[in-house]
Amino acid sequence: MRHRRLPVLLSTCTILFAGLVAAGDGAAQVIRSGPGACKAIAFTFDLCPVREGKGYDAPLIDSLIASRMPATFFLSGRWMATHDAEVRALLAVPFFEIGTHGQVHAHLSALDADRQRAEIQGPVTRLRTEYGNQATLFRPPYGEYDDLTVEVVRSLGLQFVLWNVVSGDPDPRLSRTRMRESIRAAVRNGSIIVFHANGKGPHTRAVVEDLYQDLVVNLGLQPVTVTELLKGCEPERSHDTVERSR
Ligand SMILES: [Zn+2]
Repeated sequence: MRHRRLPVLLSTCTILFAGLVAAGDGAAQVIRSGPGACKAIAFTFDLCPVREGKGYDAPLIDSLIASRMPATFFLSGRWMATHDAEVRALLAVPFFEIGTHGQVHAHLSALDADRQRAEIQGPVTRLRTEYGNQATLFRPPYGEYDDLTVEVVRSLGLQFVLWNVVSGDPDPRLSRTRMRESIRAAVRNGSIIVFHANGKGPHTRAVVEDLYQDLVVNLGLQPVTVTELLKGCEPERSHDTVERSR
C-alpha cells in the first residue's frame, strides 16, 4: 500500500532535500536533535506570548537554577515586551541559552517572505538593541514552517531548531506521570525536548525534576544547551555540570 503515498512522500522529500542542500552553508538545516554519539540532551523551553496569567513559570526557573541545569529558552518578541525583568533574569544565568521564537507567534507558512522575515527578526533585533544579546537560534511558532522560512532563517544567520521529543506540557489532560513516562521512553542520545516556561504547563516543573532524576542522575545523560549539543561531546564541561548538580 505504500506506493499510494508516493506523492506525499515525494513532497516531504523535496522539503527535506531543499533543507539539506541549503544546509551546505551551515545555517539552514532544520535541527531536531544533536549527535547520537554524545550522551547529552537539551531541555528547551518556549516562551510564547500569553493572554492571561503571569506568563512566567518562576518556580520552574528557580528549580533549574538550583540544580544548575543548562537549558535553552526560545523567547517571542511579544512575550519579551511585557517581561523585561524576566528577560534580564534569564540572560544573567550563565548556563542558560537564549534563542528566539518569532515576534507575535504567527503561523509562518501563511505569510509571504517579507512578513516572515519581520516576524522572525523582531525578537532578534529586540534582544540585540535592548539587551546587547546576539541570538543565534530560532524556533518557529507551532513548529510550522515552509521552504521560505528555511531560506529566511538561513539569510538571517540563525540556526533553525525544532525538537525530537514533545513533552505536551500545555495539555491539561496529560498527567505528570504520563508525561514523565512518555518523555523517558522517547529520549535518545542527542535529544532535544520541548517544554514551555510561560506558565502554561501545570506539571512542567515537576516533570523536569522527575526527568533530571531519570535521565541525568540515573542514565547519565548530560543536560546541555542546544549550542553545546550541536558542538558535540564536551566531556570536561559535562562532567563539571554533573559534579556541580549534586
Ligand atoms: Zn510557541
